[in-house]
Amino acid sequence: MLFAHDTEVALVAAAALVNTTGSDGEKLPDLAALDDFFRAYGWTGGREHTEAELRAVQALRPRLRRIWEADEDEVVEIVNALLRESNALPQLVKHDEWDYHLHATPADAPLATRMAVEAAMALVDVVRSGELSRLRVCEHPDCGDVVVDLSKNRSKRFCDAGCGNRAAVSAYRARKAAARG
Ligand SMILES: [Zn+2]
Ligand SMILES: [Zn+2]
Repeated sequence: MLFAHDTEVALVAAAALVNTTGSDGEKLPDLAALDDFFRAYGWTGGREHTEAELRAVQALRPRLRRIWEADEDEVVEIVNALLRESNALPQLVKHDEWDYHLHATPADAPLATRMAVEAAMALVDVVRSGELSRLRVCEHPDCGDVVVDLSKNRSKRFCDAGCGNRAAVSAYRARKAAARG
């Protein structure tokens, strides 16, 4: 394991959140979609189930996306701002099926705040380990989704939405065309 388990879970969830908006449209259009996302990525704690909650989560996405595109100094600025704005206070907690891990917001803080701080805390680990290069954008030209490479040999180039297969098929076709030509 590259990072602590909660860090890896948080990075994957942050990437998934960023990827709910992109080339193939809005994947968090309403509260029902937010409910599904919340469950799918193992979120716990309080919910408001309001339009304001949905809008706050949607508004977090471009800020998190910058983390995948910015250089280290700018990432640090974003991460520090997210932690400062949310009055993050790291505490070890244990709940549900999870053993001790870090929470830096109370369970009743707004969902967008908890999502922001969880991502920021994970990024603290990534920056401190000098591993920012593991945050990449999918290399498929038509994609643009963000990717977290947690592989041992840093080999992940494509997102999990099938771009690796699409790229392999294109490469195969190009080879065949070249062989014919
Ligand atoms: Zn937790
Ligand atoms: Zn992709």
